[in-house]
Amino acid sequence: MIAVSTFSGKTVALFGLGGSGIATAQALVAGGARVVAWDDTQASVEKAASEGIPTGDLRDIDWASVSAFVLSPGVPLTHPVPHWSVDLARAAGVEIIGDVELFARERAAHAPDCPLIAITGTNGKSTTTALIAHILRSSGRDTQMGGNIGRAVLTLDPPKGERFYVIECSSYQIDLAPSLNPTVGILLNLTPDHLDRHGDMAGYAAIKERLVLQSDVAVVGVDDSFSSAIADRLSMNGHSVQRISRRLPVTDGLFADGPILFRAEAGAVTNLADLSGISTLRGSHNAQNACAAIAACLAVGVSLDDIIKAVADFPGLAHRMQPVAKRGRVVFVNDSKATNADATAPALSSYERIYWIAGGVSKEGGIASLIPLFANIARAYLIGRDADAFAETLEGAVPVTMSGTLEQAVAQAAGDAASDPAALVAVMLSPACASFDQYKNFEQRGEAFVSHVRALPNVDMLVRT
Ligand code: ADP
Repeated sequence: MIAVSTFSGKTVALFGLGGSGIATAQALVAGGARVVAWDDTQASVEKAASEGIPTGDLRDIDWASVSAFVLSPGVPLTHPVPHWSVDLARAAGVEIIGDVELFARERAAHAPDCPLIAITGTNGKSTTTALIAHILRSSGRDTQMGGNIGRAVLTLDPPKGERFYVIECSSYQIDLAPSLNPTVGILLNLTPDHLDRHGDMAGYAAIKERLVLQSDVAVVGVDDSFSSAIADRLSMNGHSVQRISRRLPVTDGLFADGPILFRAEAGAVTNLADLSGISTLRGSHNAQNACAAIAACLAVGVSLDDIIKAVADFPGLAHRMQPVAKRGRVVFVNDSKATNADATAPALSSYERIYWIAGGVSKEGGIASLIPLFANIARAYLIGRDADAFAETLEGAVPVTMSGTLEQAVAQAAGDAASDPAALVAVMLSPACASFDQYKNFEQRGEAFVSHVRALPNVDMLVRT
């Protein structure tokens, strides 16, 4: 844990007692702050109190004595309307910050030169974060990974000289981290998302821009107009920018042509890496993620040889287009994280012969946006609540089996895929749906998929759990 020393002896109000809120409160208490923590859910307050965190209704405290207000990133700061606790802090003129800001201040106070790579963007954050951490660890660096992925940032080990931090940041976290100044800041891409929380696209982009603006080296994806404009603004202001692209040659940075990655530097283009045999980095979206990860690792001094070696054995992230098993020419892919059609699209474009398991609780619009990718689907196996609606969209274009349950779907898809003569065949769970009709969450759904695959005869598992 990182004990937050910068508020020692001071009073800090905190709202939001989910997992990261409790960790933040504990880190503040450990550093000597007087904490008053609260949540709108009574059970969360009780849980925090049972873990030794001082609690109190923030409507009843003396705000004049409060040095800072720490807000959980899930609680609205501005849109659709500020949470009541935000109004109270603002009325009292108290600064409003989040756990990533507390981390940034600890780093500034104790180890300002320890390398910090921060990653944001609409899509691909977790993959890029995990890939960078994997490269750093493989090259022998003391590496801490967390933030919006895995461990809350203040549960990591404390900053010190040669310790590397790889921190995934949601826009909410950046919004609450005004002094975050990474060694390398990565902005992968920007597409409309979470606009309910940021008002409009310009507001959303401005928050993400701050992360790269305040970094020593900015790595910016230039495949969408918002990010590209940000890269141009940074260069015009004399900022060091590495541009990355999954499809266009760039003049300074890294780009992909299919699975082949190139580096452009001072007018010269060199061949960097070939992702084609790396099953965990299939698809042009992953070429973008890999370009960003490689650019960041080069910027913090990892050798190209070490990077390329590590990229080749990236284990991938659980539930995100994760190859979990093989049987002959058939690969079993767990993409349970794809809870809507947009998230399923990259998966369907990454294989040309797919036995596709989908369904659950559909989002508005269903799978109509996936119609251009239907040619890659050999057969669909539908499960869950909205199977009928999906069958309607697929009708006439893709053969359908109404499987009902995931267990049935795996058995049926595996059976059909076995007799497919193509050189590479995927049995893929990429449901384009939420899971709560049949599972607690997408993780549990993905684990169920893996266990049904494991139960098939003669499969070679690529994962342990
Ligand atoms: P995030 O952490 O930003 O949600 P993940 O790395 O967890 O992103 O990937 C989630 C899903 O988003 C993946 O399964 C894939 O479908 C899609 N995705 C990943 N990287 C990209 C990218 N660079 N551009 C567009 N979509 C992507």
